[in-house]
Amino acid sequence: MFKALVLEQDGNQTSSQIKQLDESNLPVGNVTIAVEYSSLNYKDGLAITGKGRVVQSFPMIPGIDLAGTVSSSADQRFKSGDKVVLTGHGIGEKHWGGMAEKAQVNADFLDPVAQGLDTKKTMQIGTAGLTAMLCIMALEDAGVKPEQGEILVTGASGGVGSVAITLLKALGYQVAAVTGRPKNTQTLETLGAGRIISRDAMLTDNKALDSQLWAGVIDTVGSHILAKALSQTQYEGAVAACGLAAGIDLPTTVMPFILRGIKLVGIDSVYCPYERRLIAWQRLAELLPASFFELACEQISLENVADYAAKIIQGQVKGRIVIKL
Ligand code: NDP
Repeated sequence: MFKALVLEQDGNQTSSQIKQLDESNLPVGNVTIAVEYSSLNYKDGLAITGKGRVVQSFPMIPGIDLAGTVSSSADQRFKSGDKVVLTGHGIGEKHWGGMAEKAQVNADFLDPVAQGLDTKKTMQIGTAGLTAMLCIMALEDAGVKPEQGEILVTGASGGVGSVAITLLKALGYQVAAVTGRPKNTQTLETLGAGRIISRDAMLTDNKALDSQLWAGVIDTVGSHILAKALSQTQYEGAVAACGLAAGIDLPTTVMPFILRGIKLVGIDSVYCPYERRLIAWQRLAELLPASFFELACEQISLENVADYAAKIIQGQVKGRIVIKL
């Protein structure tokens, strides 16, 4: 038997309950994992509260990421005792996810835990942190360099935002952080933000082209704030868009693209190719200072997940939430 958070659907209502399940219930997969940690991401909040159409079949174990130890493997790439991490690939959406003591998955979904990390640190970083690294790699690929100017990070207090700020600082970039929560200013500055921009300032006075302020942007929120960031990006700068915390729309014009040659790059972590994921995990292991794990991460148990899921959707969670199984 193993403990799991299970989502059920009744009409339009999604409910969550902690249950004891028999191992015979585990889905088909060639690697079985004793899950040690999962984490709470925005998408998990959408799944657990039912606020977003994330879950494709019920009953579902949520959790779009997990880290743990292989307990048995029919795939030669993994053996019992290996430390592994799984992000995306539809877990917590169409395959049972990380918020359970056991998981049985397809070996193709798994990455080894990077050298220098353990399973806890790996999930403190989690999907959000991996995505932050992928955003930075996209800006680098677009030619953005520290000497070109500031990088704007939106949704700064959240999981992606807080990891992005920390990584950018470690790489020598100047960071401007957009937040709707002034009370988080000190934490954001300690993580590496050189200055704080209020969310309200990003929601006023929208122009097709504004002052050229940012060499690059990491946007986690979409909608009007992404449009404003595009209008403020420097000539030939780049914007990595990964999120929708403010909305799925993008009320912009073609002007920043055709008059300033800026690049808008979409970031997807779910089906990011294996080789790129490995590079991202190794860079995360090397770049994140010990202070990040102390300052920006909170640990909860399965019993707290429903409360925290509601909070993350209301924009009330700070940094990263790791779930100990
Ligand atoms: P969090 O909830 O931890 O962070 C989001 C942050 O956005 C909040 O902390 C808040 O920061 C800000 N925010 C919340 N609501 C609003 C709003 N209405 N308007 C403007 N800002 C708002 O989420 P994550 O960091 O885990 O994820 C961020 C986004 O990235 C989500 O949309 C998520 O789905 C997406 N994502 C995408 C991935 C991909 O592969 N493309 C992978 C991982 C995440 P503050 O209070 O500082 O303003």
